[in-house]
Amino acid sequence: MNSIPPERQRVGLECTNCHTQIPLDRSLAGCPACGETLLEAIYDFDQMDIPAWVERVKQRRPNLWRYREVLPIHHAANIVSLGEGGTPLLKSQALAASLGLKHLYIKDERQGPTGSFKDRQATVAISALKEMGVDELVVASTGNVAIAYAAYCARAGIKLWAFFPSLTPGDKMREAALYGAEVIKITGTYDQTKELAARFAQTKGIFLDRGIKSVAAIEAMKTMAYEIAEDLGTELAGGERWLAPDWFLQGVSGGMGPIGVSKGFRELVSFGLVDKLPKLGLIQSAGCAPMVEAYQRGQRIATPIDNPQTIIATLATGNPGRAYEILYEYVNTHGGHFTTATDEDAFTATLILARTDGISVEPATAVTFAGLIRMVRERVIKPDDVVVVNCSGHTMTVEKHILGDQWQHSVDLSGQAKTPALPEEGLLSALEQVESQVRRIVIIEDNVDAARLIQRILQARGSYDIRLAHDGATGIKIIREVMPDMVVTDLMMPDVDGFAVIDTMKADKTMARIPIVVVTAKDLTPKEKARLNGQIDMLLQKGSFIDEQFIESLVSKLP
Ligand SMILES: *Cc1c(COP(=O)(O)O)cnc(C)c1O
Ligand SMILES: [Zn+2]
Repeated sequence: MNSIPPERQRVGLECTNCHTQIPLDRSLAGCPACGETLLEAIYDFDQMDIPAWVERVKQRRPNLWRYREVLPIHHAANIVSLGEGGTPLLKSQALAASLGLKHLYIKDERQGPTGSFKDRQATVAISALKEMGVDELVVASTGNVAIAYAAYCARAGIKLWAFFPSLTPGDKMREAALYGAEVIKITGTYDQTKELAARFAQTKGIFLDRGIKSVAAIEAMKTMAYEIAEDLGTELAGGERWLAPDWFLQGVSGGMGPIGVSKGFRELVSFGLVDKLPKLGLIQSAGCAPMVEAYQRGQRIATPIDNPQTIIATLATGNPGRAYEILYEYVNTHGGHFTTATDEDAFTATLILARTDGISVEPATAVTFAGLIRMVRERVIKPDDVVVVNCSGHTMTVEKHILGDQWQHSVDLSGQAKTPALPEEGLLSALEQVESQVRRIVIIEDNVDAARLIQRILQARGSYDIRLAHDGATGIKIIREVMPDMVVTDLMMPDVDGFAVIDTMKADKTMARIPIVVVTAKDLTPKEKARLNGQIDMLLQKGSFIDEQFIESLVSKLP
């Protein structure tokens, strides 16, 4: 089996501005009618028997090429694959509970071959280039596209010139170099880097990857929509049908992900496979948020940011161009929200996500989760909404000694300040300080899951040494042993209940001063309230979930 039909007959292009239809052609720079550079692939789906196709898809392996009939490649022999796509849709447990969300799903794009959702773009783009006979390629990237392209180019035998802005972490440039790409570091912004790469490609006569404007990129990203719809259907409808979520969230730079995903859902609606389009939650880094700023001002066209003030290189596109217009249109027509997260919020979100759901992400992805937290807090996202977050990229390191020093072409003139060595005694006292800063909390809660949840959420916010007890008697025993900085206790427990724990602590000189926080689901009687009065430091009503405020109040009671 070499060619892609029978289901699909033809691929063409359509102008996103004037909707002129154009045959697919390598040398095309834009729409011949209006000059628009953003073109979309269109397919002749008329002869496609959708139910039969869905059945066939089900039999295939869970990777991106499972949907090969809706991708712009003619011959399967040209496909350059590393097993990308088919990433799991993880149901969030602790983070969902801490936000009060019932259906929070994490599309784990970290599990791609090079650790980000750019693997989708790479497999489709490099396969298309192979089909066109391209053997040398120039790309400008904030990191992940170049890494993914470098891997797939290595596999396809295509030489890659990768241009990076200096903000890109060295680890990422090194990763691209590992796959044999020529790495060119530009001391300048990402937008300047793109310009230079384009000039280089033009003077050398080398094919230039057009990023968001490349048809392959949007087609690749749309496969996330197909996977999400298929997996949500399995998750929420027993595999009877495909389902669209209420929300798709992503940290946005160039906007390729959400544009691709929205095209995917449009196709699925036209196939009758899903019955709605998701709202888009688009989050940008506060220091480089041209889309959010334009949206908040009601502008249809974004004002470029010349000097991005974020250290998150992946999201440092200052000039979103046409991509913003398309997303603006979508959000106005089908719903959605533009918002920002600061770098600091993103780093907090990194810790929360790692320590609640065991997922380590790169800063660009953390921006998405920080945005999620914000959108829940601002009640843009509701507790019952089905939310899918694009968990777009993993943290990344390459062991430095593998490459030596000669892996990039630029010279860094700023020089490196040497960190003075820490004297031995300094190290010891630093260690002691660290230890003395770890505060102890005893949680007494007979519901094991609730206790663990409070523990995990607290641990996501800082270094706490947390001991759990599931009944009052054990709680007292542990308190005596470890003399914690705070006790968090439930009231209703079999045998020795919370009231008894409090009485015991208050009657003992050594324990009397430890702050006590009571967490209860029970509506207290006036008599019970009187009994607690003056004895405890805080009373928290346990709702259906544990929110941000709950944790903040809790932590504020630590001495
Ligand atoms: C590229 C990238 C983004 C931004 O993607 P766009 O859809 O092009 O805006 C977000 N996160 C990660 C990890 C990325 O690599
Ligand atoms: Zn046009």
